[in-house]
Amino acid sequence: MSCRARFPPRNVIPHSFLQDLLNRVDIVDVVGKYVQLKKGGANFMGLCPFHNEKSPSFTVSPTKQFYHCFGCGAHGTAIGFLMEHAGLTFPEAVGELAQSVGLTVPQEPSPMRGATAGAPGERPVFADRKSAAALSDVMQTACDYYRKALRGAPEAIRYLKKRGLTGEIAARFGLGYAPDGWQNLEGAFADYRSDTLVEAGLVIVSEKLDAEGQPRRYDRFRERIMFPIRNVKGQVIGFGGRVLESGEPKYLNSPETPLFSKGSELYGLFEARLAIREARSVLVVEGYMDVVALAQLGFPNAVATLGTACTPVHVQKLLRQTDTVIFSFDGDAAGRRAARRALDACL
Ligand code: ZN
Repeated sequence: MSCRARFPPRNVIPHSFLQDLLNRVDIVDVVGKYVQLKKGGANFMGLCPFHNEKSPSFTVSPTKQFYHCFGCGAHGTAIGFLMEHAGLTFPEAVGELAQSVGLTVPQEPSPMRGATAGAPGERPVFADRKSAAALSDVMQTACDYYRKALRGAPEAIRYLKKRGLTGEIAARFGLGYAPDGWQNLEGAFADYRSDTLVEAGLVIVSEKLDAEGQPRRYDRFRERIMFPIRNVKGQVIGFGGRVLESGEPKYLNSPETPLFSKGSELYGLFEARLAIREARSVLVVEGYMDVVALAQLGFPNAVATLGTACTPVHVQKLLRQTDTVIFSFDGDAAGRRAARRALDACL
């Protein structure tokens, strides 16, 4: 492969960056620019661009994020597709995809670090070993911890029962509880001082020093009902935390991380995806509690945006599941504003 790229050949694109990139990009969008795709069950189908055919044997899987042709055996990821079909070199394909999701390809020979990388306004890029996989692991561990903590928290269970939820629904959505206290996650992780916990948004580093002269650390989520936010693959990528009774803020979300981007994720989409297909429609509501309560009442096809307005990315994601999107917001001024934005996003 010749290197006619904008990138000097000495620079290596870190593997972890490629994983983060492929987590952010949706192959259906990438292939869809070149091939007319139609929904067929869980996958998308179209005429194979790599061999001549009259009936479609080319499939794109949104859950597995690869394309496969049953006719000629062509197969690969979004990066591979751009290389094979659009004739881009590897760095060009990576560069184009990164640009489409607002990421910057790390160009330094030494790995960049953390949320300080990149120009202001760019999304943080984590190019070192704390890859999406490592973050995904700690999110799952935290999720298990919160679920276990819920079982030992009668006040939280009482609250959920009061809201009409059964244990079955709580389990389906993986609901948990972050108990009162500043460093409860110390009991869930071998190394509470690990940077991965900070990058995952579970732990906050304070400017104040502790007794050992180290910056004090504490759990982001305290005394809250925890709603794990899953991606379409079912991995926990963030949390929403709701206070039990009073307290501010009422809802607290995970910060933006390489796994989690509020403008493109919808709460409940993973749990609702089969019901959406069955009902042939999706109900978009305002809060996590609404989603869970609706599932309890027999409307399992509901999702919620995550404290942001409904974006065109959200709408695209929903239209991939069904052709009918129903928005249901509160009748107050904020709800009407949200409805207006949602309509704009759809148009
Ligand atoms: Zn083919």
